[in-house]
Amino acid sequence: MTLRKQSFLNKIVIIHILSFVFAKEINDVSFPHSNIVFANAKFDLVSNGNSSNRYIWLHGDEQTAKMALEYHIKKYQGIAFFIDSETREIPFQSTIIDPNRIFSRKGSYHALRKFKPHWPPGTLKNALDMLDVERKEFLNVLMPDESGYLVSLHNNFRGYNVYKEKNKSQKVSIKKTENPRDFIICTDENDYEKLSSGPFNVVLQNKLPESDDGSLSWEALRRNVRYLNVETRLGYLSKQKKILKFIEEVLD
Ligand SMILES: [Zn+2]
Repeated sequence: MTLRKQSFLNKIVIIHILSFVFAKEINDVSFPHSNIVFANAKFDLVSNGNSSNRYIWLHGDEQTAKMALEYHIKKYQGIAFFIDSETREIPFQSTIIDPNRIFSRKGSYHALRKFKPHWPPGTLKNALDMLDVERKEFLNVLMPDESGYLVSLHNNFRGYNVYKEKNKSQKVSIKKTENPRDFIICTDENDYEKLSSGPFNVVLQNKLPESDDGSLSWEALRRNVRYLNVETRLGYLSKQKKILKFIEEVLD
């Protein structure tokens, strides 16, 4: 082997080692992983940069939403919360509960009794007290400050669509060209004005309903947090990615 060829090979080896070290560093610095537990469910946290924006995937059976968020958090800054579950309901004590029905004590009461109507004396109160403590800690980490917003990603399977949200909404922008099962729910009127000028279905829900079902949107509204629910048909990954990208571009 000539000396020239040898030095060329050495350079290649060095470049390979450097790129490996560099890639690992980017991985560690930009996307530190950690987790947090709420109602026995572990949430994996993926963060990118320093933005106040927060994203959450709550229903384990809505895999398109998970993939959309995995893609999105690599490109845009914020912290993404991924529930460690493959099913909609999560096991909790001796029953299962919908993780998007436990963001209030009242919602939790109904969620705990849905699949287990009868609890031995005192045990339901204990479970509710435990959820109260964990919820407070979880929401302290999840909720963005005033400069950010919270995006929740969901998928629907059959009948659910934007028209089912009409009665709960203060303003509605439904586009003829869009499928009614793909839409955004937002809780901030300024956000609504910006989002509704785009191509997607958008509804504004900035008034608390009479009966709180314990979903995250109402808790965000109580806290005056800008909340956005991105809902698409299961399997429509590129649609969900496009709506997320649109939100990032239109809102500040
Ligand atoms: Zn969902």
